[in-house]
Amino acid sequence: MRAIVLHKALDLRIEDSDVAAPGAGEVQIKMAVGGICGSDLHYYQHGGIGDAIRVKQPIVLGHEVSGYISALGDGVDNLAVGDLVAVSPSRPCYDCQYCHKGQLNHCENMRFYGSAMPFPHIQGAFREVLVADASQCVKADGLTAGEAAMAEPLAVCLHATRRAGEMMGKRILITGSGPIGALSLLCARAAGATEIVVTDLTDEALAYAQKIGANQTINMIKQPDALKQYQAGKGYFDVLYECSGAAPALAAGIAAMRPRGIVMQLGMGGDMNVPVQAITAKELDLRGSFRFHEEFAIAVKLMQQGQIDVKPLISHTLPLDDALEAFEIAGDRTKAMKAQIAFN
Ligand SMILES: [Zn+2]
Ligand SMILES: [Zn+2]
Repeated sequence: MRAIVLHKALDLRIEDSDVAAPGAGEVQIKMAVGGICGSDLHYYQHGGIGDAIRVKQPIVLGHEVSGYISALGDGVDNLAVGDLVAVSPSRPCYDCQYCHKGQLNHCENMRFYGSAMPFPHIQGAFREVLVADASQCVKADGLTAGEAAMAEPLAVCLHATRRAGEMMGKRILITGSGPIGALSLLCARAAGATEIVVTDLTDEALAYAQKIGANQTINMIKQPDALKQYQAGKGYFDVLYECSGAAPALAAGIAAMRPRGIVMQLGMGGDMNVPVQAITAKELDLRGSFRFHEEFAIAVKLMQQGQIDVKPLISHTLPLDDALEAFEIAGDRTKAMKAQIAFN
């Protein structure tokens, strides 16, 4: 079976490796689709994320995946061969202090697929065959394999939306119209937000936000003053989803927040300057959001029930043989929203 292995920045290879049999409590999955995430792209383009997370050994990328069960290990009775499953990359230990607190995304021994955060790195799921714990698999019947592979980024945005709190009737600003910004839009809308404005630097990215229901989109290069109306007085927005990881976006967003608004930081690009004075004077809450756990199964359910439709965001699907091209396309924001790789 083949897997997509990153050796160092811009050195991505398709390599052969052995197929493992599932042990007790595990399943073997014939992988169907894997979505390329911003973190996969950071690893590919820059060999890491910021200064702290660096690729130091070959790593199989990928953590947004779905597939069909191909074999069951002993004791697995809730899944059957042939089932389409969304596979959660979140693998906490269930036994550290944070797991015991129910903060599973903060597990001290997390083995999140395709992560260069720990060393040795945790190998990822861009492979033709994957052995996973049955508990990581959520049945995705009724969805396409591509939709099922969107459960992961959707779960990220559901977690952030939960962290942001009340959404009913709120005014939302989203900075960064990539997959996380767009999925945050869908989550905020599903949770009752009534006005959603999205900013980005790329028209093509903003067109997706428009298509899925943004009230207004702003290209900050072409309309640098368009946020001014919202920055007047004490500001306008109740919640900011900062999904770009870019300091100017955070600063412009904070300036448009009304007092006691909530700033959700999701974008990752390393450390940046923060307008602390405005946070103090407007009594803003600055909140991080990182990964998810139980939101993964919720994401699958929301898609199955038709409450959230991610299909318009899947822009490209390329075969495994064209993985390199898929990474190039995924990195071109004038082309791709979510680029996925088809494994079988
Ligand atoms: Zn992801
Ligand atoms: Zn743990």
